[in-house]
Amino acid sequence: MEDFPQAIASQTEANYFSPDRILRERETLFSRVDWSDYKSHLRNRVKSQDLNRYFALTDSEKYGLENSVRLNVGTTPYYLSLSDPKDPNCPIRKMIVPQAEESVFSAEESLDPLHEEDLSPVRGLTHMYPDRVLLFSNHECSVYCRHCMRGRKVSSSDERMDVGDLEACFEYIQSHSEISDVVISGGDPLNLSDSKIDWILENLERIPHVKICRIGTRNLVTLPMRITPQLCEILEARNQERLSIFCNTQFNHEKECTDEAKLAILRLLKSGVSVGNQCVILKGINDDGESMLRLHRRLLEMRIRAYYMYDPEVIPGSRGFRTPLAKGLEIIEYMRGKIGGMGIPQFVNDLPGGGGKVTLGPNWYLGFHRETRTHVFKSAVHGTFHLSPEPIGSEYDSKYPELNSELWESIHKKAYSVSRGISLVSEED
Ligand SMILES: *Cc1c(COP(=O)(O)O)cnc(C)c1O
Ligand code: SF4
Repeated sequence: MEDFPQAIASQTEANYFSPDRILRERETLFSRVDWSDYKSHLRNRVKSQDLNRYFALTDSEKYGLENSVRLNVGTTPYYLSLSDPKDPNCPIRKMIVPQAEESVFSAEESLDPLHEEDLSPVRGLTHMYPDRVLLFSNHECSVYCRHCMRGRKVSSSDERMDVGDLEACFEYIQSHSEISDVVISGGDPLNLSDSKIDWILENLERIPHVKICRIGTRNLVTLPMRITPQLCEILEARNQERLSIFCNTQFNHEKECTDEAKLAILRLLKSGVSVGNQCVILKGINDDGESMLRLHRRLLEMRIRAYYMYDPEVIPGSRGFRTPLAKGLEIIEYMRGKIGGMGIPQFVNDLPGGGGKVTLGPNWYLGFHRETRTHVFKSAVHGTFHLSPEPIGSEYDSKYPELNSELWESIHKKAYSVSRGISLVSEED
């Protein structure tokens, strides 16, 4: 971390940056950028030692910037423009600027909590599920997210994937005919050049058993101008009979849902690429039902379907982000009934130690009443109890968790069923 002394020096100077000066610095930066040209945003990317020019940093942020255990900090001017220079609680700002908690590598944390490296038969490829692999195409991103679980990889030059590494990955995929789905991740694959992206897709298209390719990118959020007509032409040309291309992105907050982002999504959709969202629950950013509901409403308006909602991984410095497991369940419980199912993500946990993903959901199912062979549910909309009979002749009775008999006594008379439904007319009438 050679740039520490420099970072400290500029922080000291930063104490003199007045709020007005910060606004002027932002204006100067934004006017320097050719806004619709993604390359101009990348050339003008703001690095950690310069963040003090664009934010009135709190002590926690100053400390975090000087001592972060994570590799890199930086943002595109576009993503910076979504952040608040003055409000330290701005969700975008919290995803860009590290806080003091991030300087602590706690005992429970690990650089590779999912053991992706141990499940890697060739450099840059993780093969955990029989039919799917994760391919790390590169290590660059437009914005280095504070919560990134690949912090060990992104922005580290040791992790550079050269053409030979990628060719070895293609060979591996070629020789494993059970692989039908390749998830390209990084880093961010859309930080590669158009020609490199085309070359990767061409190689995948050549392998007859590969049917699906998913591009994992956050550029829709952090640099939507990257989705140029030229890139879309490439995607469309490869998104044909032999290969189906999907895109999964990561919007975490409604403030990220801009007109620029929508334009980028519409371009992808026009090239036949379907777009899904995988958000991460982040403490103090989006860790409540209402924030997630608003985010997913905006996503549907932008034609993005919800895919996953993750808890942050137990990576170094993650204490500042991690939320209790119950939060995820609470959020899904809150959303169900308030938005169409297309807008409700699956709450998944990627199990530490390489166990893969599992989905978790709130318990709408309360159990099975054996004597009457009845299932008892709780309505997500009304909170009322509802009964459903197990089919006659079913051999699955012993599979169901037994309903507590006291609970049965207290609810079965007021419960609803095929013979007694909720009516819009109030009960007293
Ligand atoms: C998440 C992941 C995948 C893709 O999983 P889906 O549930 O199909 O989205 C594939 N391989 C690895 C190693 C993963 O972590
Ligand atoms: S864009 Fe993705 S890979 Fe890159 S820093 Fe953010 S979360 Fe990590």
